[in-house]
Amino acid sequence: MGAYAYVAPQTVDETIAVLADHVSSGSRAQILAGGTDLLVQMRSADHEPHTIIDIKQLAETNTLTLGSDEIYIGAALPSALLYENEELKALLPGLLEASDLIGSTQVQGRASMGGNLCNASPAGDCIPAMLAVGAICDIANVSGGRQMPVEDFVVGVGKNALQAGEFLLGLKIPTPAKNSRDAYLRFIPRTEMDIAVVGCAVNLTIQSDGTCSAARVAIGAVAPTALMVPAAADALMGSQLDEASLQAAGEACTAASSPISDKRGTAEYRRKVVAVLCRRAAAIAQSRATGG
Ligand SMILES: Cc1cc2nc3c(=O)[nH]c(=O)nc-3n(C[C@H](O)[C@H](O)[C@H](O)COP(=O)(O)OP(=O)(O)OC[C@H]3O[C@@H](n4cnc5c(N)ncnc54)[C@H](O)[C@@H]3O)c2cc1C
Repeated sequence: MGAYAYVAPQTVDETIAVLADHVSSGSRAQILAGGTDLLVQMRSADHEPHTIIDIKQLAETNTLTLGSDEIYIGAALPSALLYENEELKALLPGLLEASDLIGSTQVQGRASMGGNLCNASPAGDCIPAMLAVGAICDIANVSGGRQMPVEDFVVGVGKNALQAGEFLLGLKIPTPAKNSRDAYLRFIPRTEMDIAVVGCAVNLTIQSDGTCSAARVAIGAVAPTALMVPAAADALMGSQLDEASLQAAGEACTAASSPISDKRGTAEYRRKVVAVLCRRAAAIAQSRATGG
């Protein structure tokens, strides 16, 4: 590892000021949340000296609020802490399932959803789950901040839409109604401690007669970025989640995929598995949304 400077600001304004100083001097700074991606990257490939800005001390990035209209998840909250919150788990079981899949218990004690999103890996487990629940990024900057749907945030492999001087404060998620729930499934060749070969998140609203009135479907690890699949959602909406609509939704996920072949699976295999995961995740979301 090279030589690094480390700062741990106590407020958002202080953090923005440190970032702004680096922008104006043309020197490099990088945000640290849990460090479970960052430290690995610094040890393996990124040896260029720069300033590490630790955001774990900020009140805002450690905030969790469960409002009647909106849930706020601070960007630095560790996944282990989120998973202990039974109310949050009941409201967003799919998103919490995704963050609970990250690494081991030790990794989850540090790893944040914000870091998973900002790292922008095609296989990041939380990203499809965030897309399915319609998460909005709450971004801090010198101009008072801005909001951006997660759909627009990841712009390529390892690339996000943050501008110089900005950082992610947290995620805003519409509080789901009683008849809306999400599910996330991934496939890995091992039972744990591996990255997704395929991931799929489904969020459904089911009416009392069993009709699906709203759907969001997102897939991961089968394209350079996690993707929304509107055609899969269309196949489910208005249906009773019968075999034909589940089949059509799965086929739409296959059609939206543009996977690579690697040691974990061929492109053809990934295209098949994404359809299976879509059908299974839809069935789980349906069961949750109907109180099953
Ligand atoms: C053993 C192991 C197993 C893992 N297993 C999985 C897995 O199963 N699934 C999976 O998806 N990931 C996995 N990961 C990767 C990693 O743990 C996750 O991506 C995790 O969520 C990253 O969160 P973090 O808080 O540690 O991010 P950090 O490492 O702190 O940051 C990651 C990147 O995002 C940037 N960043 C972080 N927070 C912000 C912010 N608020 N604003 C702006 N930029 C920010 C950092 O500068 C850095 O570039 C694994 C990692 C390890 C070491």
